Amino acid sequence: MEPKQYYIGIDVGGTSVKEGLFDEDGNLLAKASVPTPPIVDAAGFAAVTEAIDQVVAKAQIPRAFVAGIGLAVPCPIPASGDAKVKANIAINLPELKIAIQEHCPDAVVKYENDANAAAMGEAWLGSAKGVQNVVMVTIGTGVGGGVIVNGDVVSGVVGAGGEIGHMCLNPAEERTCGCGGHGHLEQYSSATGVVSNYLAECEKAGVEPIELTGPSDSKDVFQACREGDKLALAAADTMADYLAAHWRLLPTWLIPRCSSSAAAPPPRPMSTSTRFASTLSSTRFPPRARRPLRSLRSETTPASSVPPT
Ligand SMILES: [Zn+2]
Repeated sequence: MEPKQYYIGIDVGGTSVKEGLFDEDGNLLAKASVPTPPIVDAAGFAAVTEAIDQVVAKAQIPRAFVAGIGLAVPCPIPASGDAKVKANIAINLPELKIAIQEHCPDAVVKYENDANAAAMGEAWLGSAKGVQNVVMVTIGTGVGGGVIVNGDVVSGVVGAGGEIGHMCLNPAEERTCGCGGHGHLEQYSSATGVVSNYLAECEKAGVEPIELTGPSDSKDVFQACREGDKLALAAADTMADYLAAHWRLLPTWLIPRCSSSAAAPPPRPMSTSTRFASTLSSTRFPPRARRPLRSLRSETTPASSVPPT
């Protein structure tokens, strides 16, 4: 029998709002994308709800059959839901939620930090399917992260848990991170970071940089890498080195039994548009590094946030 309940996932990004309609098994049935408006007034909210209408129309499903709507937003979400930090985007989350709820009164509407939501998706049906302890790194304009321990997303006190892009790896760095700190992973290993690395290499060498369209124009830097530009290659190396250094640190605080560097997954070449998840399950480690994991289960096991598979 055809399932009668459907779900909509809404990814609110800096440049576009992407929406997908899914069935109960997570199969994508329809999708839509609209340029991100300022989501602070009726016109902005309407852009989001109109995209909801688009996906249900494409799938020919009554809106009343939508049982849940999840918003992934680029800001920390505390347990109270009162998001105070809104990075690079104009959005009024409480009022957007009300607008969506009024548009789809039969649906449960919730929102979550986008990297955490991505980690939950990977743990449910993606590359970390069936794994309860997961770290996901999202590389884009910045570096985001989602951490799942024993099936629960680690949100922290203010909902900023898993923001591993702001781990300090170089306290001596003089340049300032977007958060105000210094030497953070994001400064070297994001799209913005690799451009910054490249410009620093050019300045050091006294060479005029290639033409870039913006501060996060990593595409042109990587194209220069393909053409053998030594300074662009050095910038990409710096990006990879910091990512690998960060990767080596993860097991030391997340799963102590796997703190040796041999147990860490090897860094892989990646584009800045790549989103990837890596699990810290022993089953994903090379056989020579495999060893029994100590259970991290707490005495009071919280309800799992990742659907069982
Ligand atoms: Zn930072």
